[in-house]
Amino acid sequence: MAGKSLLCRVGIHRWEDRRNDDGEAYRLCLRCGAEGDKIHLADYGDTGGGSMG
Ligand SMILES: [Zn+2]
Repeated sequence: MAGKSLLCRVGIHRWEDRRNDDGEAYRLCLRCGAEGDKIHLADYGDTGGGSMG
């Protein structure tokens, strides 16, 4: 198994903004494939619901 990039090992990932099938934005590291926290889109215009999951 190939070793991670040194930068990734120290926590410096190469984050790329992605969007999953549900339309949720998240981060994916282009180097090691790690997934970051979901991005909270404040002004995404999704104010119809109100149910926090
Ligand atoms: Zn990484």
